[in-house]
Order: sequence, then C-alpha cells, then structure tokens
Amino acid sequence: MAALDSVLNDIDKDLDNALERLFAFLRIPSISTDQAYAPHCREAAAWLAADLTALGFETSVEETSLHPVVLAHKPKPGAPHVLFYGHYDVQPVDPLDLWETPPFEPRIATDAKGEKTIVARGASDDKGQVMTFVEACRAHLAMNAELPCAVTILIEGAEENGSQGLPEWVARNKDRLAADVVLVCDTSMWNPTTPAITSSLRGLAYFEVEVTCADRDLHSGFFGGAARNPIHVLSRILADLHDDDGKVTLPGFYDGVRERPPEVLEQWRGLDFTPETFLGPIGLSEPAGERGRLLIELVQSRPACDVNGIIGGYTGEGTKTVIAGKASAKVSFRLVDDQDPQKLAETFEAFVRARIPADCSVNVICYKGSRAISLPFDMPELETARAALQDEWGVPAVTVGAGGSIPIVGDFKRLLDRNTLLIGFGLDDDRIHSPNEKYDLRSFHKGTRSWARILSALGARRGH
Ligand SMILES: [Zn+2]
Repeated sequence: MAALDSVLNDIDKDLDNALERLFAFLRIPSISTDQAYAPHCREAAAWLAADLTALGFETSVEETSLHPVVLAHKPKPGAPHVLFYGHYDVQPVDPLDLWETPPFEPRIATDAKGEKTIVARGASDDKGQVMTFVEACRAHLAMNAELPCAVTILIEGAEENGSQGLPEWVARNKDRLAADVVLVCDTSMWNPTTPAITSSLRGLAYFEVEVTCADRDLHSGFFGGAARNPIHVLSRILADLHDDDGKVTLPGFYDGVRERPPEVLEQWRGLDFTPETFLGPIGLSEPAGERGRLLIELVQSRPACDVNGIIGGYTGEGTKTVIAGKASAKVSFRLVDDQDPQKLAETFEAFVRARIPADCSVNVICYKGSRAISLPFDMPELETARAALQDEWGVPAVTVGAGGSIPIVGDFKRLLDRNTLLIGFGLDDDRIHSPNEKYDLRSFHKGTRSWARILSALGARRGH
C-alpha cells in the first residue's frame, strides 16, 4: 500500500504539469469529421505517441481508412493485461460565437458552484478522460519504474465520425490487442461525488412499415364503410405491440433478457432516480412501460418499443374527406442483454404480416441493428474496480446502464471476445459536443488517482 500512496502523492504534486500536458493536447484542433482538419488529427496522434514513447511505451501511429490510431504497449510477463481505449478526435466547434473563449485555447475557469473547470473542446470528450489514464501510468512509472499490469493503449481518431475504419483495423490486428479486459474512459459519473461503472448499453432495432390498401386515395363519402383503411390497419398493428401492462407482445421478445442481480437492484433503489427527478423536468409524472419495474430498469435494463413516426392520409389544415391508399410508421426497439436484432426482425415482420387483411399489402423495411452490450455481473474485474473507486471517492460506485452507445465496445466483444469496463469521470453538465465544453478539475485529478488505484488493484489480482 505504501507503493500506491507514493503514486497518489506524486499525482497530487504533479497536477500542474499534468494540466500543462493536457492543455498542449487540447490546443490541437483534431476535428475528425472535417477533412480540412485531417493534418491536425495526425498532429494529435503524433503528440500522444511522443508522450507515450517518452514514458517507455513501444508506440506506433498506424493508418486506418480515416485518421490514424495510436497503439502503445508496455508488456509485463505474467501480470494481468489491460487494453485501454479512448479517442483523440473531437467534435466540430460551431456555433463558434457561443464560446466564451476560443475552443482550442484551454483555460481554467470557476463555475457558478465555485468548482474549478478545464474549458476547451475535448476537455471532457475525450482528451481529458484519456489523459487521466496516461497520467496514472506516468505516476506509477515515476514511482515504481513499472506498471502494475501489462498495458496496451489504443487511441483512435474517428470516434466522433462513427469510428470509421476502426473495426476493420481491430479485426486485422487482433493478436496485438490481446488483453484480459478492456478499459474505456469515455462515460460519466452518477453525480459529481459518486463514481459509476457503466455496465450496459442498450442496442437498437429499427423498422419501417408501409401498409397499402386501395391503389389510390379515395373519397370517404363514396367508399367509407366499404374500402379498407390502411391507417386503421396500421394503428391496430401498432396498438397490438403492447399489452395493458406495458409489455411487448411479440412472441419470444423477452428471450435473452436477464434480471439484474438483487444487489444491483438494491443499489438502484437507493438512487435518487424518481418520476419527480427524471420525468418532472420534461413535464411528466407517471412512468409508462412495463408495470411493476423500477423507473431506472425501464430505461437501462429492460427493452422498449416505440413508434417514432407515423404518416398517412390528410394532415393539412381544415378537413378533407379522404381514405388514404397508404399509411406508414417507423418503429424502433431498444434491446438489452442477449436479444437478437436479427431474430427480432423475423418475428416483427411475421407479427405485422399476420395482421394484414386480404386485399392489402405491406412492406417492412429493416434498418441495420445493433446488439446490446452488457457485462457479466460476476466478472471479477468489476468488483476490483468498484472497490478501487470506492477507496478514492469514499462512496460505493454505482453500476449503471447508459443510453448513448460506444459501438466499438461491441466490436471488442465480437472480435476480441473481451469484456469492457466503462469507467469515466465526465459529468452530465460537461456540455460535450456543445460550446464551452468543460471537465471539472476534480474529475481530472481524482480520475487520475482512480486509475492509479484501479491499475494497482487489477495488478494485484491473482489467477487472472
Ligand atoms: Zn467520446
């Protein structure tokens, strides 16, 4: 423990230098979606590679179909091996006039609550978060001349552009990414004083249903009562998707959905996540969806089905006595655990077709879906990381799900067969992707200390 204490002390003492390094990284306008900034993406990759090389990592900058990735290794035979992933690219900065100071001139500000913040594009998403891990490695190396674990670092430059080129690169370089577990620092804390481990991301399946009855729009005076109305047909299909208890009625829909363990539910019950705090701000008070579930379950660990749009008939001003020839709707499903988007597509189409009367036809379009990501709750690294976070923050880390997805995490599972621990120190008010993005100084400092503890704890694990 003395060794860890000296590492933590070093992080405290070196904070100003760590900030200077982060500021240098933040000054590089590595916007990935705009080709005009491609040289700056390269510059950010080179900056990071130079820093990791100076720390003694075997480092290379490698081409993908878009911006290069930085790959760095620090082997340690016999020790547990972690793969850390993050991104050096940032979102565009417009509207520029809403920034209080230029986005690529980082500064320390004090917010309304008296909290010190680092303000710049990328401060939170994801350069500040990436540097918490790098600084933790730096302190371990400064104090002990080695890291507690074998560490591979993969930092990409196209995350804000759908990670273009990355899955292909990962597939080609599987053997160089071997590790026991993946660590990602690109998520948020539960609140400014409570750390969180994001253990699940919901997947998505998206469909469009177009029902056609007559071969043209009809006059409802001539045909009303005789001609089939596609809006009625479509409405019945959509209404049939849920029962009176808010459950989705598709056969086999809940196959692969798992219950959360009692200790997780217990923790969720203790969170301040109520209809008042969650639905109140959007003008609602009563949870819809499956009856008898916690509100947090409904948005994190249970699947959901929503109609996202519906088109048909006359929707202009005044009246028009028409029976439409066609009606269509867009329907999406949020998926959890092992629900299979492919199987759902088949079930959904069969469900729709079974409700199409004679004389009518239907076209079901299925967009590309994604599976959910969820950690096995008994994975040993989860407990280890949770304990390390509690040591730093003084309160238990919450295990939560997240709404936004990080698609590469699914690829790590699929291509490398490895689970990912998502541990981040961002806050909901960091304004990522918006003007005046910030990262709390406390997130940066205690985030670095947290990684130092997590690396130590993972390195001490036996029988990995
Ligand atoms: Zn990010």
